[in-house]
Amino acid sequence: MYRKNAWLKYNQKQREEVMKFSEGYKDFLSNSKTERLAVKNAKALLDKAGFKSVEEVKTVKSGDKLYFINKNKNVCAFIIGSEPLENGMRILGAHIDSPRLDLKENPIYEKNGFALGDTHYYGGVKKYQWTTIPLALHGVICKKDGSVKEVNIGESEDDPIVGITDLLIHLSADQMAQPLSKAITGENLDISLGSIPLNENEKNAVKDNVLRILKEKYDVEEEDLISAEIEVVPAGKSRDYGLDRSMVAGYGHDDRSCAYTSLKAILDTDTKKVKYTSCCILVDKEEIGSVGATGAQSLFFENAIAKLAELLGSKNPLFSARIALENSKMLSSDVSAGFDPLYPQVNDPKNAAYLGLGIVFNKYTGSRGKSGSNDSNPEYYSFIRKTMDEANVNWQNAELGKVDQGGGGTIAYILGNYNMNVIDAGIPVLNMHAPMEIVSKVDVYEAYRGYLAFLVA
Ligand code: MN
Ligand code: MN
Repeated sequence: MYRKNAWLKYNQKQREEVMKFSEGYKDFLSNSKTERLAVKNAKALLDKAGFKSVEEVKTVKSGDKLYFINKNKNVCAFIIGSEPLENGMRILGAHIDSPRLDLKENPIYEKNGFALGDTHYYGGVKKYQWTTIPLALHGVICKKDGSVKEVNIGESEDDPIVGITDLLIHLSADQMAQPLSKAITGENLDISLGSIPLNENEKNAVKDNVLRILKEKYDVEEEDLISAEIEVVPAGKSRDYGLDRSMVAGYGHDDRSCAYTSLKAILDTDTKKVKYTSCCILVDKEEIGSVGATGAQSLFFENAIAKLAELLGSKNPLFSARIALENSKMLSSDVSAGFDPLYPQVNDPKNAAYLGLGIVFNKYTGSRGKSGSNDSNPEYYSFIRKTMDEANVNWQNAELGKVDQGGGGTIAYILGNYNMNVIDAGIPVLNMHAPMEIVSKVDVYEAYRGYLAFLVA
């Protein structure tokens, strides 16, 4: 509110810098529509910047750069600092999963001349938003012989797309009388896969034809889809949004905008300036509670720190890891609800996040009485304010909507369980969790600058 729009603070050269940065971001976003693809692209960037996979490393010393990858869906990267690991790290943590529709284990069926794909939605979605839009398929099919087929359909110009049909307005009298939460059901979020029968008079001939296409393309049988992970996501690239090109429209800003900027920050950090070991962790499964082997609650991260402690020569790596975690400072890098001029009523305007004002800090998230929140310590928050102001970062502070309006959480509390200082810091988003989300280019850029400053603070 009392903060100035970041665009107004930039000179022409800085504006060009923002535009250039957002090109790299759009590219990452367009090519990272699943957590696996995000990890693959993150790995390529890490390799290019001289980070080594931990498997290639025998010993580690100050200034070294390395990364761990967990099950292709979770990555953490480190720059070893000049201080002992036990004195704590500077951690940036973001998630790389986004709300979407997953194909079921037995997905393909035929009905009234159509082959359809049954889905189960992942994360919080407003179901009506996913009908009548172009959708793509990304993922893997794992065969019994151990081979893995990568699926990618619907992104290149000459690829077919899939989609979910909706009723014509002319016959929607009953549907339109339903509340938004009921009008489209989860079980009805099925994608159209085809309409040509393979043979005449054969039952399920349209389905058979779709299976034939999959067999030809990926050498898989219907049963192989049981051990598959195929995500149905919006098709197409992210684009500039607004006549002034100030924003980016795309799928998955939550939370790949923070993932990309966090990753870029560690990639661009000058190793000579790293006092406390820098860390960037990108996790999966945030949208369904940070559970499972690749989520933030997994022991993967703790184990990685212990391995790091061992490589650094600790006699008691597990204990060293605990102490290192306890003494760390973290930014839980996740998006915030941007103030939407069409729906001002859900926010307290003096505690809302605005597009264009820069990186946003949330002391707490949560629902109702801050339930599920990591309410960060004000002592730590003062350190953050100092760090941001000294680096001349454009920043703002906010909470997620009006009290009792709803709420949400991030991974902050999970790392907070290690007794480290954590605060939420991210990018304001419009249309959060919709197939097309919106961010401001300056907020993406200022998040990157804020993360850069934090890593060497
Ligand atoms: Mn998020
Ligand atoms: Mn989310």
